Amino acid sequence: MTTNEIIFSVEGMTCDHCAVTLRAALSHLPGVHQADVSFGDRRATLHVDESFVPGSVVETAAAKGYVAKAHIRPEAPQRSTHKRPSDTLDLVVIGSGGAAFGAALRASELGAKVAVVERGTLGGTCVNIGCVPSKTLIRAAEGVHRANHPRFAGTASEARVTDFGALMREKQSLVEELRQAKYANVLSAARGVSFVEGHARFDRPGVVSVGGAELSARRFVIATGMRPHVADIPGLAEAGFLTSTDALALETLPRSMVVLGGRFVALELAQAFARLGTHVTVVQRSAHVLPTEDDDVTEELERLLSSEGVRILTGARTLRASREGNESVLEVEQDGRRLRIAAEQILVATGRRANTDDLGLARVGVQLRADGTVQVDEALETSASGVFAAGDVIGEPAFVYTAAYEGRLAAENALGTAKQPRDYRALPAVVFTDPQLATVGLTEKQARERGIAVDVAKLPMSYVPRALAARDTRGFVKLIRERGTDRLVGAVILAPEAGDLIMEPALAIRHGIPVSELARAFHPYLTGAEAIKLAAQTFDKDVAKLSCCAA
Ligand SMILES: Cc1cc2nc3c(=O)[nH]c(=O)nc-3n(C[C@H](O)[C@H](O)[C@H](O)COP(=O)(O)OP(=O)(O)OC[C@H]3O[C@@H](n4cnc5c(N)ncnc54)[C@H](O)[C@@H]3O)c2cc1C
Repeated sequence: MTTNEIIFSVEGMTCDHCAVTLRAALSHLPGVHQADVSFGDRRATLHVDESFVPGSVVETAAAKGYVAKAHIRPEAPQRSTHKRPSDTLDLVVIGSGGAAFGAALRASELGAKVAVVERGTLGGTCVNIGCVPSKTLIRAAEGVHRANHPRFAGTASEARVTDFGALMREKQSLVEELRQAKYANVLSAARGVSFVEGHARFDRPGVVSVGGAELSARRFVIATGMRPHVADIPGLAEAGFLTSTDALALETLPRSMVVLGGRFVALELAQAFARLGTHVTVVQRSAHVLPTEDDDVTEELERLLSSEGVRILTGARTLRASREGNESVLEVEQDGRRLRIAAEQILVATGRRANTDDLGLARVGVQLRADGTVQVDEALETSASGVFAAGDVIGEPAFVYTAAYEGRLAAENALGTAKQPRDYRALPAVVFTDPQLATVGLTEKQARERGIAVDVAKLPMSYVPRALAARDTRGFVKLIRERGTDRLVGAVILAPEAGDLIMEPALAIRHGIPVSELARAFHPYLTGAEAIKLAAQTFDKDVAKLSCCAA
């Protein structure tokens, strides 16, 4: 079904909660596929089909005391800097996030004529509503936490950030600065790349339509990403909720928040809001947060988060939500008991859904998996010849650095003669909690599931001189070695800045550097990297009995 974007200006909202409740009401109107309401921009953005009646928005807003008016879509500030596409194109890239940029820039290097089509904000998820705003908030929250607990006493945070509004405005200026520097300017400078604003749909093989215009090309890359998926919970729409996008756009700090979900976005935001002064409860359906990780890892992370005052309910099923006065109430079942959790805001971080609806994919024979992601082969080509896909839209892994890599690979395979497969032999991943959780290769659980016998060395950070000097000994390093060989198959690091430390095991796995070499190589004394050497030595020695510099 075809949808169009309509924007309404909305006057009379006084807080983020007004936006949340209005969005919930608008989402239910006939013909509305997606509704977003921003208190800051005083704006409602709707994706609607032909059955939509604009008056229904005006009436719904009026019933809640707001004035809504249909509005002409504002010009994107960066639009004028972009070149228009020429007639014959080698490649059309749909989307303008990390995957699309990877594809467009690689195609430009290869001398191709390319058009990039974007229906929303240039730069996609990472810079606008993902990595950049979330990590800015997390860093600021770390600052607040360290000021309160210089020695990580582990008590619940009493303090609130003094000016949340200012923090969010600073975050937004960084987002805009990076969007301009890393996307708008880069796109303008890329040879042979033009930018088209609007919603792209395949019309027929070889042709994509954008508004009234048609773009013909030899090859295509679908890089349309994902959007937050809202779990189907009775009463949730009426109670009102935030997605990660809304939470990162709040202007006032909520007193309390329930976070639904226990994967990386949920945990990162839960800890950041808690450190800024919000009372946070995480509700996770599975037995542990981050259910694909080993239990000892997630148990320790849960313990550390709980020690800071984040309440974590695992094995908890959400039954329904409702609104009572100024609070949302969630009814949850855990271990056969029913619990009521009241909070000012509910943050739904239960997953993301691929943007594959309304792309005309069936018209050109692009097949989807059951979860809506685009099905691709190892060379990232879809079931339609000449149509490739990259980034979040093809499913896991869903990171910006994998999106960019896939985009480049898709462009090379689309425009070249030989097709290269994806290579994810040693893919590091980081959860930006504090301490961070960084992983690469197989977990202990995965190795056993694959029938690989392993030995595990686990070194608490309390054995690492750097951690002792910093008076922060939270976490551990866990190395997983194939039994009877010297081959490293996996590593997990739960430690401050673990994301930096994981690169040594990642390179060891990728290039076959043996564990004994990690144990032998020079690692400067009093660096975090020494943790890797000590952990590698733990396979054969009792590190408690070693002298300085692991001698
Ligand atoms: C809160 C949060 C924090 C994150 N933190 C990190 C992090 O720290 N590190 C990390 O590596 N990853 C992080 N991620 C994940 C990362 O942001 C994504 O994996 C990455 O941005 C995906 O890039 P993409 O190009 O595949 O899609 P996107 O960046 O989502 O781009 C897709 C674009 O396509 C456009 N589009 C969709 N349909 C159409 C259409 N029909 N026509 C035209 N345009 C269309 C969309 O408007 C969008 O701009 C985070 C994600 C979230 C939500």
